[in-house]
Amino acid sequence: MREEAAFGDIPSVDRLLRSEAAADLIERHGRAAVTAAFRSTLSILRAACAQTLVPHGATGTDRPAASAHGDELALSSIVEQATRQLDERLQPSPRAVFNLTGTILHTNLGRAALPDEAIEAITRVARGASDLEFDLTTGGRGDRDAHVESLLCELTGAEAATVVNNNAAAVLLVLRSLANRREVPTSRGELIEIGDSFRLPDIVRAAGCRLCEVGTTNRTHLRDFAEVIGPRTGAVLKAHASNYEIVGFTSSVDEAALAALCREHAVPFVIDLGSGSLVDLRTYDLPYEPTPTEALARGADIVTFSGDKLLGGPQAGIIVGRADLVAKIRRNPLKRALRVDKLTVAALAAVLRLYSDPQRLVRRLPTLRMLQRTAADIAAAAQRLRPACASALDGVATVDAIACESQVGSGAQPLRALASAGLAIRPEGAKQRGTALKDLAAAFRRLPLPVVGRIRDGALIFDLRALEDEAGFVSQLPLLWTGTVRCP
Ligand SMILES: *Cc1c(COP(=O)(O)O)cnc(C)c1O
Repeated sequence: MREEAAFGDIPSVDRLLRSEAAADLIERHGRAAVTAAFRSTLSILRAACAQTLVPHGATGTDRPAASAHGDELALSSIVEQATRQLDERLQPSPRAVFNLTGTILHTNLGRAALPDEAIEAITRVARGASDLEFDLTTGGRGDRDAHVESLLCELTGAEAATVVNNNAAAVLLVLRSLANRREVPTSRGELIEIGDSFRLPDIVRAAGCRLCEVGTTNRTHLRDFAEVIGPRTGAVLKAHASNYEIVGFTSSVDEAALAALCREHAVPFVIDLGSGSLVDLRTYDLPYEPTPTEALARGADIVTFSGDKLLGGPQAGIIVGRADLVAKIRRNPLKRALRVDKLTVAALAAVLRLYSDPQRLVRRLPTLRMLQRTAADIAAAAQRLRPACASALDGVATVDAIACESQVGSGAQPLRALASAGLAIRPEGAKQRGTALKDLAAAFRRLPLPVVGRIRDGALIFDLRALEDEAGFVSQLPLLWTGTVRCP
């Protein structure tokens, strides 16, 4: 076979495995992984050789003569490539990054940062057995909701509470349990889409309900609901328009009035609150966001909200409200399919416990701590960090301390910008500005702890509101210049 003859210079997998360098690799990664890495490196090399050295129809006479020196070169470069491949596999994934986008609850970057209390709680139950569903008093079976239910009831004034995987799951489970095969009237002004994966009409349909659109986009009245509520109604759904606002000639139905109408017809009134801050954010000088407590007080029978938005906890969907309805929701077989794991239960319970002391809360809960940081405090950080950044980028880009605006993110408070500060990095030199900017942003993303910013007005912007580990940020700046991380 001509091909094999042509690749005679390329060492075999056996030869590679017997080499000195391989022994070290096998020690670190195991023989199977190293063998696989050699195979894949060799096949890439063969494909490359087939293209460049042995063009179709060539006799093989134009390939370089085999020499002992050439063999050694080939061998060491193959080992090197295989090592890179194996090391890449050892990289943890997902990786921690610096979120300097200015969006504090960034869905693509994992939303809320957890407090130490939650991280310790996760570690505690992750190591081994726990009383997740075990009653230590009676020695009998327990319920995983028990670890968070009374805390949630205390914090929201609800009669009962249960927790599922996320808020989308919460809405799905609630509607499926309370309104399956029946109509769910919802205002046309609240048919929301969150990101690209949560569209309220789709969730209603997936729950086996018929969406009954009420009113118009900008105005919906109580009489619109009164006209459609009847024997076919399973539940009335109100969704908090969390990522947009309808302004101008608008009217939405008063929650208390809608609750009264629902009660009259014995139909459950469900509110999807989305963010659901457990405290009135105005006490921390932050923009108002409706709380589950208020929604329940106004007469909602069931309220759902996320655990990893303004609450500042782990990903979860929290369902609070009337005890009889929560019991019905819990009995639905879907609850089992959507239940949270022990790590989430542990983290959520730890976060909820922090809420019992509002003064301590703002110090301990990263989400709240970051959101209420003042622009002056962040501007001081920008002044501190600018020199190190400028010297690391000397000759490549200029670095300025700037004022900028952060946002809460995850749909919460879309129109309320928070005054913030940061660094604006502008590439210097001949390279085309757009390309240079993208290269610069990519270089920061290649750091051991990748730094993610945003590109705006010809600059790479780092909003420093969420940067708490300044030393960690500065310490890796010199790496922008080394080996695999090369700055443009
Ligand atoms: C964010 C949000 C959801 C989805 O919540 P997840 O926890 O991301 O599943 C649903 N409804 C509203 C109003 C939201 O803001």
